[in-house]
Amino acid sequence: MVTTTENTTKHFDNIIVRINEAGRLLNLPDWKVEILSDFKLEWGGGILLYKDDGSKKTYKACRVWHRSPHTDKPHKGGDRYHPLVSVDMMRAHAIEMSIKLWLVGIQMGGSKGGIAVDPSTLSRPELKRLTEAYVDERIARNIIGPLLDVPAPDVGTNAQIMHWVRQRYAQRKRERGFEPFAGVVTGKPVGYGFDGIEGRTEATGYGVIAVLEHALKRFCGKVGKPRIAVMGYGNVGYYTVERAHARHFPVVAVSDVRGGVYNANGLDVAELNKCFREAKTVFGFPGGEAITSEELLTLEDVDVLIPAALEHVFTAKNAPNVHAKFVIEGANSPTTPEADRIFEDRGIIVVPDVCANAGGVTVSFFEWARNLNTGDPRVPMGDKKDVLAGMTRMLLASTDEMCANAEKYKTTLRNAAFVTAIDRFAPLFTAKHTA
Ligand code: NAD
Repeated sequence: MVTTTENTTKHFDNIIVRINEAGRLLNLPDWKVEILSDFKLEWGGGILLYKDDGSKKTYKACRVWHRSPHTDKPHKGGDRYHPLVSVDMMRAHAIEMSIKLWLVGIQMGGSKGGIAVDPSTLSRPELKRLTEAYVDERIARNIIGPLLDVPAPDVGTNAQIMHWVRQRYAQRKRERGFEPFAGVVTGKPVGYGFDGIEGRTEATGYGVIAVLEHALKRFCGKVGKPRIAVMGYGNVGYYTVERAHARHFPVVAVSDVRGGVYNANGLDVAELNKCFREAKTVFGFPGGEAITSEELLTLEDVDVLIPAALEHVFTAKNAPNVHAKFVIEGANSPTTPEADRIFEDRGIIVVPDVCANAGGVTVSFFEWARNLNTGDPRVPMGDKKDVLAGMTRMLLASTDEMCANAEKYKTTLRNAAFVTAIDRFAPLFTAKHTA
């Protein structure tokens, strides 16, 4: 399940296979398929950190923009802080971001980037300075801005880091005599002067459960009481479990990087979260038996598996041993193409990442649109409840379209997601985009 260079290449190849397949199903001309596999920007370079002890260290940073037909709209995608971040890794992620945005009907191009660093090895002031160096580098290259490219949190980054991005951008732009915009970044903290949006933190996890309920209704005729296991207990995993619990679904197993816990009768989520807040891990929670993440994925009495950690969790090795009937991809790219084929043969329904975890980017879009006062009628202007209801509406409308296309084209939900997204915006590509 580790992200390696080999996995990165496989991930990219797999995305290109999906685009080719969508092109074939939609009868697109070759040049459109080629442009959909292309990039507008691939930047990678070193940024300098002045460490607390006075020494200096260079870190590799990058940002990639997928080719988008929306030339007058910005790009949008997460900033990841993780040791394996590279331009190669971010290419596939940037295309997936476009597919996710287009699937929910947002007219922006996908982007993704980050810094090859383990943030836990830095002090807080070092993390702030490194973030500022990353923003400076992007300002110098004119590749960040509310109408250019709008980052958001991803693995290893959070609302605090987004706030530093916004502060630095504002400070630098003011120095150059421009008005700073809050909309330069999303996933900011909420509250006066911070300009974040209520509901962003919960959005991805709550969206995962909304999509799950919709899929259960569609494929089983009713929601029932699905037994759920969640791998990963960060932003996505935590709120997925919170929402599942609120809907009275038994959460029988959870895990994080240290290990997991299983209880056949359903975990006591309130107690689990109490322990998690203190220990910062679900491993060792006394309300169940200890299991590994690998064991969680192959539990026998589970209806729904929700991977919410890193990529390539399901492989040819463990996919034959999965007992769940549904996989709802909270994480990005948790299923390898080999595992996908095995799931398809075994009749296991996989709701793909570009649909299942699109709640986060949808609310990020609301935040950006509110910051810029765009007047888009889809953007809820009320409180958290209103925001999450607006997100759910957009997410479920695209889930319906994806399912309808899966039936129409007799294909998997993953292929159908690409078809739905590309069909919506590929007509906007004209010959001028090839210039
Ligand atoms: P996070 O950093 O907050 O949490 C990651 C979690 O995964 C942590 O609990 C960590 O302990 C766990 N983990 C890491 N390695 C593991 C392993 N080997 N086994 C089990 N658990 C492991 O990240 P996040 O924001 O929750 O994102 C998780 C995934 O969801 C990523 O793929 C991310 O790209 C994707 N995603 C996130 C959002 C969002 O809004 N945060 C939106 C869409 C997609």
